[in-house]
Amino acid sequence: MRALALYSGGLDSSLAIKIMMSHGIEVIPIAFVTPFFSPDTEYGKRILGVSIASVDITEEYIDVLLSPPHGYGRNMNPCIDCHALMIRKAKELLEEYDAKFIITGEVLGERPMSQNKWSLREVEKSAGAEGLVVRPLSGALLPPTIPEEMGWIKREWLYDISGRKRNRQMELARIFGIEEYKTPAGGCLLTDIQFSKRLKFLIGIKGRPSREEFELLKVGRHFYVDGSWFLVGRNERENKVLRNSKIWKYMFFTIDYPGPTGIIVEGDLIETAIRALVRYSDAPKDVAVRVRILKDSGESYITESTSLDEEELEKIRI
Ligand code: SF4
Repeated sequence: MRALALYSGGLDSSLAIKIMMSHGIEVIPIAFVTPFFSPDTEYGKRILGVSIASVDITEEYIDVLLSPPHGYGRNMNPCIDCHALMIRKAKELLEEYDAKFIITGEVLGERPMSQNKWSLREVEKSAGAEGLVVRPLSGALLPPTIPEEMGWIKREWLYDISGRKRNRQMELARIFGIEEYKTPAGGCLLTDIQFSKRLKFLIGIKGRPSREEFELLKVGRHFYVDGSWFLVGRNERENKVLRNSKIWKYMFFTIDYPGPTGIIVEGDLIETAIRALVRYSDAPKDVAVRVRILKDSGESYITESTSLDEEELEKIRI
Protein backbone atom coordinates (compact mmCIF):
# COMPACT_ATOMS: atom_id res chain seq x y z
CA MET A 1 0.00 0.00 0.00
CA ARG A 2 1.42 3.36 -1.00
CA ALA A 3 0.63 6.83 0.41
CA LEU A 4 1.83 10.37 -0.17
CA ALA A 5 2.86 12.45 2.84
CA LEU A 6 3.11 16.20 3.25
CA TYR A 7 6.68 16.74 4.41
CA SER A 8 7.18 20.10 6.15
CA GLY A 9 10.72 19.73 7.45
CA GLY A 10 9.51 19.69 11.07
CA LEU A 11 9.44 16.83 13.56
CA ASP A 12 5.69 16.14 13.37
CA SER A 13 5.58 15.33 9.68
CA SER A 14 8.72 13.19 10.01
CA LEU A 15 7.13 11.21 12.84
CA ALA A 16 3.87 10.78 10.95
CA ILE A 17 5.86 9.33 8.04
CA LYS A 18 7.94 7.09 10.31
CA ILE A 19 4.82 5.73 12.04
CA MET A 20 3.24 4.73 8.75
CA MET A 21 6.49 3.29 7.40
CA SER A 22 6.91 1.22 10.56
CA HIS A 23 3.67 -0.58 9.64
CA GLY A 24 4.78 -1.39 6.14
CA ILE A 25 3.13 1.49 4.26
CA GLU A 26 5.29 2.72 1.41
CA VAL A 27 5.39 6.47 1.96
CA ILE A 28 6.44 9.03 -0.62
CA PRO A 29 7.13 12.33 1.14
CA ILE A 30 6.32 15.45 -0.86
CA ALA A 31 7.83 18.84 0.00
CA PHE A 32 5.73 21.68 -1.34
CA VAL A 33 7.88 24.71 -2.05
CA THR A 34 7.15 28.45 -2.34
CA PRO A 35 9.27 31.57 -1.76
CA PHE A 36 7.98 31.50 1.86
CA PHE A 37 8.84 27.96 2.88
CA SER A 38 11.06 25.33 1.42
CA PRO A 39 11.53 22.20 3.53
CA ASP A 40 15.07 20.93 3.86
CA THR A 41 14.80 17.82 1.71
CA GLU A 42 18.39 16.69 2.38
CA TYR A 43 17.71 16.63 6.11
CA GLY A 44 14.45 14.76 5.43
CA LYS A 45 16.23 12.19 3.31
CA ARG A 46 18.80 11.68 6.07
CA ILE A 47 16.28 10.99 8.82
CA LEU A 48 13.61 9.22 6.75
CA GLY A 49 15.91 7.19 4.56
CA VAL A 50 13.88 7.96 1.41
CA SER A 51 14.06 10.70 -1.21
CA ILE A 52 11.65 13.58 -0.95
CA ALA A 53 9.89 14.89 -4.03
CA SER A 54 9.88 18.72 -4.25
CA VAL A 55 6.85 20.31 -5.91
CA ASP A 56 6.77 24.06 -6.52
CA ILE A 57 3.29 25.50 -5.91
CA THR A 58 4.19 29.20 -5.96
CA GLU A 59 1.69 30.38 -8.57
CA GLU A 60 -1.31 28.74 -6.89
CA TYR A 61 0.03 29.76 -3.53
CA ILE A 62 0.05 33.44 -4.49
CA ASP A 63 -3.71 33.25 -5.15
CA VAL A 64 -4.26 31.77 -1.69
CA LEU A 65 -1.97 34.29 -0.05
CA LEU A 66 -3.65 37.30 -1.64
CA SER A 67 -7.15 36.19 -0.77
CA PRO A 68 -7.37 33.32 1.71
CA PRO A 69 -11.02 32.25 2.13
CA HIS A 70 -10.34 31.35 5.78
CA GLY A 71 -8.24 34.42 6.55
CA TYR A 72 -4.79 34.81 8.07
CA GLY A 73 -3.30 33.65 11.36
CA ARG A 74 -1.43 36.05 13.62
CA ASN A 75 0.71 37.34 10.75
CA MET A 76 0.39 36.79 6.98
CA ASN A 77 0.08 33.01 7.39
CA PRO A 78 -3.09 31.66 5.74
CA CYS A 79 -2.65 28.30 7.49
CA ILE A 80 -6.04 26.69 6.84
CA ASP A 81 -6.02 27.51 3.13
CA CYS A 82 -2.32 26.68 2.89
CA HIS A 83 -2.99 23.18 4.24
CA ALA A 84 -6.04 22.85 1.99
CA LEU A 85 -3.97 23.76 -1.07
CA MET A 86 -1.25 21.26 -0.19
CA ILE A 87 -3.77 18.50 0.39
CA ARG A 88 -5.54 19.32 -2.87
CA LYS A 89 -2.19 19.20 -4.72
CA ALA A 90 -1.30 15.92 -3.00
CA LYS A 91 -4.67 14.48 -4.00
CA GLU A 92 -3.98 15.46 -7.62
CA LEU A 93 -0.69 13.55 -7.38
CA LEU A 94 -2.16 10.32 -5.96
CA GLU A 95 -2.79 8.79 -9.34
CA GLU A 96 0.62 9.74 -10.72
CA TYR A 97 2.32 7.98 -7.79
CA ASP A 98 -0.18 5.15 -7.70
CA ALA A 99 -0.86 6.04 -4.06
CA LYS A 100 -4.16 5.69 -2.21
CA PHE A 101 -4.21 8.28 0.56
CA ILE A 102 -2.46 11.27 2.15
CA ILE A 103 -0.55 11.48 5.43
CA THR A 104 0.06 14.70 7.37
CA GLY A 105 1.83 15.49 10.64
CA GLU A 106 -1.01 17.65 11.95
CA VAL A 107 -1.61 17.42 15.68
CA LEU A 108 -5.01 18.19 17.11
CA GLY A 109 -4.91 21.38 19.20
CA GLU A 110 -1.24 22.08 18.51
CA ARG A 111 -2.15 25.34 16.85
CA PRO A 112 -5.51 26.53 18.16
CA MET A 113 -6.69 28.25 14.97
CA SER A 114 -5.59 25.88 12.26
CA GLN A 115 -5.44 22.49 13.98
CA ASN A 116 -8.69 22.15 15.88
CA LYS A 117 -11.27 19.52 14.91
CA TRP A 118 -13.29 21.98 12.85
CA SER A 119 -10.32 23.26 10.84
CA LEU A 120 -8.94 19.78 10.17
CA ARG A 121 -12.31 18.81 8.70
CA GLU A 122 -12.59 22.12 6.86
CA VAL A 123 -9.15 21.65 5.29
CA GLU A 124 -10.21 18.28 3.89
CA LYS A 125 -13.49 19.66 2.64
CA SER A 126 -11.85 22.66 0.92
CA ALA A 127 -9.31 20.33 -0.65
CA GLY A 128 -11.99 17.92 -1.91
CA ALA A 129 -10.22 15.11 -0.03
CA GLU A 130 -12.70 14.19 2.69
CA GLY A 131 -11.78 10.96 4.44
CA LEU A 132 -8.51 10.61 2.53
CA VAL A 133 -6.22 12.32 5.04
CA VAL A 134 -4.60 10.22 7.76
CA ARG A 135 -3.04 12.05 10.70
CA PRO A 136 -1.04 9.37 12.47
CA LEU A 137 -0.17 11.52 15.51
CA SER A 138 -3.79 12.37 16.38
CA GLY A 139 -5.80 9.90 14.30
CA ALA A 140 -7.11 7.97 17.32
CA LEU A 141 -8.93 11.14 18.41
CA LEU A 142 -10.44 11.80 14.97
CA PRO A 143 -13.24 10.12 13.00
CA PRO A 144 -12.27 6.99 11.01
CA THR A 145 -10.86 7.68 7.57
CA ILE A 146 -11.39 5.85 4.27
CA PRO A 147 -8.01 4.04 4.60
CA GLU A 148 -9.18 2.63 7.96
CA GLU A 149 -12.59 1.66 6.62
CA MET A 150 -11.01 -0.02 3.62
CA GLY A 151 -8.60 -1.92 5.87
CA TRP A 152 -5.50 -0.32 4.26
CA ILE A 153 -4.36 0.81 7.71
CA LYS A 154 -5.42 -0.10 11.24
CA ARG A 155 -6.83 2.30 13.80
CA GLU A 156 -4.47 0.85 16.47
CA TRP A 157 -1.53 2.29 14.53
CA LEU A 158 -2.73 5.83 15.19
CA TYR A 159 -1.75 7.90 18.23
CA ASP A 160 -3.91 10.12 20.44
CA ILE A 161 -1.57 13.08 20.75
CA SER A 162 -3.16 16.50 21.20
CA GLY A 163 -2.17 19.95 22.42
CA ARG A 164 0.96 21.99 22.37
CA LYS A 165 3.14 19.93 24.69
CA ARG A 166 5.85 18.15 22.77
CA ASN A 167 6.78 15.43 25.25
CA ARG A 168 5.08 12.59 23.34
CA GLN A 169 6.65 13.71 20.07
CA MET A 170 10.05 13.77 21.81
CA GLU A 171 9.45 10.25 23.07
CA LEU A 172 8.52 9.08 19.57
CA ALA A 173 11.58 10.82 18.17
CA ARG A 174 13.70 8.77 20.56
CA ILE A 175 11.90 5.55 19.57
CA PHE A 176 12.49 6.26 15.86
CA GLY A 177 16.07 7.39 16.45
CA ILE A 178 15.51 10.97 15.27
CA GLU A 179 18.08 13.02 17.14
CA GLU A 180 18.16 16.18 15.10
CA TYR A 181 14.88 18.06 14.71
CA LYS A 182 13.35 21.43 14.01
CA THR A 183 10.31 23.22 15.45
CA PRO A 184 6.94 23.09 13.65
CA ALA A 185 6.40 25.97 11.18
CA GLY A 186 9.94 27.09 12.03
CA GLY A 187 10.68 27.48 8.37
CA CYS A 188 7.64 29.50 7.29
CA LEU A 189 8.39 33.18 6.72
CA LEU A 190 4.68 34.01 6.72
CA THR A 191 4.61 33.53 10.50
CA ASP A 192 7.37 36.12 10.95
CA ILE A 193 6.14 39.54 12.00
CA GLN A 194 8.85 41.53 10.19
CA PHE A 195 8.53 39.55 6.99
CA SER A 196 4.73 39.91 7.12
CA LYS A 197 5.10 43.67 7.41
CA ARG A 198 7.23 43.78 4.26
CA LEU A 199 4.85 41.43 2.51
CA LYS A 200 1.85 43.67 3.25
CA PHE A 201 3.80 46.61 1.90
CA LEU A 202 4.67 44.77 -1.29
CA ILE A 203 1.10 43.59 -1.87
CA GLY A 204 -0.01 47.17 -1.18
CA ILE A 205 2.16 48.62 -3.96
CA LYS A 206 2.00 45.76 -6.49
CA GLY A 207 -1.37 44.06 -6.05
CA ARG A 208 -0.09 40.73 -7.31
CA PRO A 209 3.68 40.67 -6.84
CA SER A 210 5.81 38.36 -8.93
CA ARG A 211 7.81 35.42 -7.61
CA GLU A 212 11.03 37.45 -8.02
CA GLU A 213 9.60 40.31 -5.98
CA PHE A 214 8.60 37.92 -3.20
CA GLU A 215 12.12 36.50 -3.27
CA LEU A 216 13.62 39.95 -2.76
CA LEU A 217 11.64 40.41 0.45
CA LYS A 218 13.93 37.85 2.04
CA VAL A 219 17.09 39.92 1.69
CA GLY A 220 18.46 43.37 2.35
CA ARG A 221 17.29 46.55 3.97
CA HIS A 222 14.16 47.86 2.23
CA PHE A 223 13.11 51.46 1.74
CA TYR A 224 10.16 53.10 0.08
CA VAL A 225 9.62 56.76 -0.69
CA ASP A 226 7.60 58.65 -3.33
CA GLY A 227 6.88 55.54 -5.41
CA SER A 228 10.47 54.25 -5.26
CA TRP A 229 11.24 50.87 -3.70
CA PHE A 230 14.92 50.22 -3.18
CA LEU A 231 17.10 47.76 -1.32
CA VAL A 232 20.60 47.79 0.15
CA GLY A 233 22.40 44.49 0.91
CA ARG A 234 23.42 43.68 4.49
CA ASN A 235 26.30 41.34 3.72
CA GLU A 236 28.16 39.77 0.81
CA ARG A 237 25.59 36.99 0.38
CA GLU A 238 22.77 39.51 0.08
CA ASN A 239 24.80 41.76 -2.22
CA LYS A 240 25.21 38.76 -4.50
CA VAL A 241 21.46 38.03 -4.43
CA LEU A 242 20.76 41.66 -5.38
CA ARG A 243 23.35 41.58 -8.17
CA ASN A 244 21.82 38.37 -9.53
CA SER A 245 18.26 39.66 -9.36
CA LYS A 246 16.60 40.09 -12.74
CA ILE A 247 14.16 42.80 -11.74
CA TRP A 248 16.25 45.85 -10.87
CA LYS A 249 15.93 49.13 -12.77
CA TYR A 250 19.12 50.62 -11.30
CA MET A 251 22.02 49.00 -9.50
CA PHE A 252 24.62 51.02 -7.62
CA PHE A 253 27.75 50.61 -5.50
CA THR A 254 30.39 52.86 -3.95
CA ILE A 255 33.72 53.31 -5.73
CA ASP A 256 36.03 55.03 -3.20
CA TYR A 257 35.16 52.93 -0.11
CA PRO A 258 34.01 49.36 0.37
CA GLY A 259 30.23 49.17 0.65
CA PRO A 260 27.12 47.16 -0.15
CA THR A 261 25.21 46.76 -3.41
CA GLY A 262 21.95 48.64 -3.83
CA ILE A 263 19.14 48.24 -6.33
CA ILE A 264 16.02 50.19 -7.22
CA VAL A 265 13.19 47.86 -8.19
CA GLU A 266 10.40 50.37 -8.57
CA GLY A 267 10.51 54.13 -9.27
CA ASP A 268 13.36 56.49 -10.10
CA LEU A 269 14.38 58.22 -6.88
CA ILE A 270 18.06 57.59 -7.50
CA GLU A 271 19.50 60.31 -5.29
CA THR A 272 17.80 59.12 -2.09
CA ALA A 273 18.66 55.50 -2.84
CA ILE A 274 22.32 56.35 -3.36
CA ARG A 275 22.46 58.34 -0.15
CA ALA A 276 21.04 55.32 1.72
CA LEU A 277 23.72 53.14 0.11
CA VAL A 278 26.51 55.54 1.14
CA ARG A 279 25.23 55.41 4.74
CA TYR A 280 25.96 51.66 4.82
CA SER A 281 29.38 51.94 3.17
CA ASP A 282 32.69 52.43 4.98
CA ALA A 283 32.82 56.09 3.89
CA PRO A 284 33.27 58.62 6.73
CA LYS A 285 30.17 60.63 7.60
CA ASP A 286 29.60 63.82 5.57
CA VAL A 287 32.23 62.90 2.99
CA ALA A 288 31.03 62.88 -0.62
CA VAL A 289 31.89 59.57 -2.27
CA ARG A 290 31.69 58.37 -5.83
CA VAL A 291 28.96 55.88 -6.69
CA ARG A 292 28.62 53.94 -9.92
CA ILE A 293 25.10 53.55 -11.26
CA LEU A 294 24.09 50.90 -13.79
CA LYS A 295 20.80 51.12 -15.62
CA ASP A 296 18.86 48.08 -16.78
CA SER A 297 19.40 49.41 -20.32
CA GLY A 298 23.12 48.73 -19.91
CA GLU A 299 24.16 52.40 -19.51
CA SER A 300 26.38 53.31 -16.58
CA TYR A 301 27.56 56.56 -15.02
CA ILE A 302 29.26 57.90 -11.89
CA THR A 303 27.86 60.43 -9.45
CA GLU A 304 28.89 61.78 -6.04
CA SER A 305 26.87 61.71 -2.86
CA THR A 306 26.93 61.99 0.93
CA SER A 307 24.93 59.72 3.22
CA LEU A 308 21.39 60.11 4.56
CA ASP A 309 21.19 60.51 8.32
CA GLU A 310 19.51 57.94 10.58
CA GLU A 311 16.37 59.96 11.11
CA GLU A 312 15.75 60.33 7.38
CA LEU A 313 16.46 56.63 6.84
CA GLU A 314 14.04 55.54 9.55
CA LYS A 315 11.23 57.52 7.93
CA ILE A 316 11.51 55.54 4.71
CA ARG A 317 12.50 52.11 6.05
CA ILE A 318 10.05 49.25 5.50
S1 SF4 B 1 2.83 28.03 8.94
FE1 SF4 B 1 3.16 28.58 6.80
S2 SF4 B 1 3.55 26.62 5.78
FE2 SF4 B 1 2.60 26.15 7.75
S3 SF4 B 1 0.42 26.03 7.31
FE3 SF4 B 1 0.81 28.11 7.98
S4 SF4 B 1 1.16 29.26 6.09
FE4 SF4 B 1 1.37 27.08 5.58
